[in-house]
Amino acid sequence: MAGVWVLAEKHEQSLELLNIGRELASQLGTKLVSLILNDHSQVQEHIDCGADEVLLLPALAAHQALEACVPVIVDEAKKEDPDLFLVAGTLKGKEIAASIASRLDTGLCSDCISLKLGDEGRLEMERLVFGGAGLQKVECLTRPQMATIPIRTFEPAEKEGGREGTVRELPAPPLSSLKVMEKKTRVRESGDLREAGVIVAVGRGVEKEEDLEMIRELAELVGGELGCTKPIADELHWLPEERSLGISALEAKPQLYIGVGVSGQIQHVVGFRDAKVVCAINTDENAPIFEVSDYGIVGDLYTIVPRLIEELKKTI
Ligand SMILES: Cc1cc2nc3c(=O)[nH]c(=O)nc-3n(C[C@H](O)[C@H](O)[C@H](O)COP(=O)(O)OP(=O)(O)OC[C@H]3O[C@@H](n4cnc5c(N)ncnc54)[C@H](O)[C@@H]3O)c2cc1C
Repeated sequence: MAGVWVLAEKHEQSLELLNIGRELASQLGTKLVSLILNDHSQVQEHIDCGADEVLLLPALAAHQALEACVPVIVDEAKKEDPDLFLVAGTLKGKEIAASIASRLDTGLCSDCISLKLGDEGRLEMERLVFGGAGLQKVECLTRPQMATIPIRTFEPAEKEGGREGTVRELPAPPLSSLKVMEKKTRVRESGDLREAGVIVAVGRGVEKEEDLEMIRELAELVGGELGCTKPIADELHWLPEERSLGISALEAKPQLYIGVGVSGQIQHVVGFRDAKVVCAINTDENAPIFEVSDYGIVGDLYTIVPRLIEELKKTI
């Protein structure tokens, strides 16, 4: 038995993994298996998007965390012996992947952004290192070859009509030594930057905390979220940590990133490197942000931003 297995916490993330999983399974001439939490409503879509088999993980009781499924997944993997096992690289996904890999006594390559099959079905994977300044090639020498893949690395798989697949329910997990006592939603100032379509990020070019209101207004007018560089959150404490982007903060993939008074140091750029369009406003024409921008305005943000707001208001 063999196969390419994909596991994600959320439906959209599964579809991204099915996209690359389908390609690899077809090259290996094996089946594509999607593991999902017990939600029958998603099964056909997974099959339409390439899954030959859907393994339904048991529904979890309120006191159980997703980690409770790890022993069930591991038992099934021991029986089925997959060739490849891909996990969506969210925080939880990475934790679970590491736990599965250690129990299967196999290797795990994290944050892979490219996966190609080399000789003898060996996966050649690439991951960014040194804040994106370098590319590292890695191979997993043990079986199953496991990798975590950052979300939005691949487009969601497209549906193919008329596909059929099998569905199996996996058994309930054994009693866990871990019990969730309570779940609380984290209070956020606003939406999650990683899911934002537009991000307007402020940097130290902004002189005073109260000036953030002007940038917040700009962000609202373009339907975006307010982000920032690390010093704005960590040193000045003008915005919470979850608003900062970069190598030691969040990485997002918005359609549009607008940097306002941001110099564009590599540690920050890593946080929006995959944005579709990058714009910057900076007084210094030699600021590194312009090297990664599609559109740049050399000018004082205190002149440019009010004018942008004025123009945008006319269009509403
Ligand atoms: C190990 C390590 C990890 C790090 N991780 C991160 C990280 O995850 N995220 C992160 O953001 N940083 C990180 N940093 C810090 C990073 O190196 C930069 O120092 C930081 O990103 C710079 O922030 P900034 O652009 O706000 O400030 P600055 O570099 O001070 O830039 C301010 C910019 O504003 C411009 N400006 C000034 N006045 C105006 C005006 N009136 N109008 C328009 N433009 C103006 C200036 O020309 C300048 O380019 C890290 C650093 C280290 C060493």
